[in-house]
Amino acid sequence: MPSNALPEPNARFEIHSHSTVSDGLYSPDRLAELCVKNGVGLWALTDHDTCGGCEEAWSAARDKGVTFVPGIEISAQAKGRSIHVLGYGFDPDGAAIRSYGERMERGRFGRMETMVKRMQGLGFGVTLEEVLDESERGNIGRPHLGRAMLKKGYVANMQEAFDLYLAEGQPGYVAMKWLEVEEAIELIAAAGGITVIAHPGRYENFATHVPRWAELGLAGLEVRHPSHDLNDEERLSHLAAQSGLIKTASTDFHGGGRDGDDRFGSANFPESWREDFLARLKKTASA
Ligand code: AMP
Ligand code: MN
Ligand code: MN
Ligand code: MN
Repeated sequence: MPSNALPEPNARFEIHSHSTVSDGLYSPDRLAELCVKNGVGLWALTDHDTCGGCEEAWSAARDKGVTFVPGIEISAQAKGRSIHVLGYGFDPDGAAIRSYGERMERGRFGRMETMVKRMQGLGFGVTLEEVLDESERGNIGRPHLGRAMLKKGYVANMQEAFDLYLAEGQPGYVAMKWLEVEEAIELIAAAGGITVIAHPGRYENFATHVPRWAELGLAGLEVRHPSHDLNDEERLSHLAAQSGLIKTASTDFHGGGRDGDDRFGSANFPESWREDFLARLKKTASA
């Protein structure tokens, strides 16, 4: 259920973006400004495991005549492997969503204490304070640790921080107790929203789960994403069609690095996909 009037027919959509409320570099307010600058008529803020920036984003968007859709990117898992689930159009003030966000924020803090100890065990002089300094608003993730490592010159860039230390399977990686994908779908559905699997091209052996998730109410697959190549898109489009799922496109904007300001809202999100997305949101809102 979008907040204000529907966007202009040819307005751009940016439905996967991060702010300083998680691991993005721009405040929700500054992202709303980018909407205007880049011709984005419909925007969803999808911070990791929280909709804590949604109120600020919503009011900034309303002031600027931009349609805002409350969003979240839930860190979920299937068979013990990480899977990100995007939620859209739910009530951000619902008790279950709020308590999920608070629980995850506490969990992320404890996880980072462990990750920092691991890095210290590997001989790096990085402290929890330095990692926390990389976050304006406290919802801590691996990029904050990566940025602290980068500042101290322990890695040449973020990619190296992830490849050598922070990616799943590397020595600095610590998992958390993520929701199962099924639970994430239900959490968002119970709050009146829809769910889309984020960047599915990154997951191995994931197609077998899709029919079951679709039956549970999963709405779509993020077929177009910066980490996908054309083969991924083709394979995922086919998979979406088989299970009656919609297709979405995004930049997964975080700001900084490859995410120059021009990149915000620049995903090629075809008109028919945008229409399906809006129809699915509306259907859920009126159900
Ligand atoms: P976390 O939520 O703490 O598990 O951290 C996951 C976040 O790390 C993702 O949302 C991305 O923003 C970032 N990330 C994951 N892989 C990489 C990578 N290879 N290079 C840079 N950033 C990454
Ligand atoms: Mn991120
Ligand atoms: Mn993600
Ligand atoms: Mn993301």
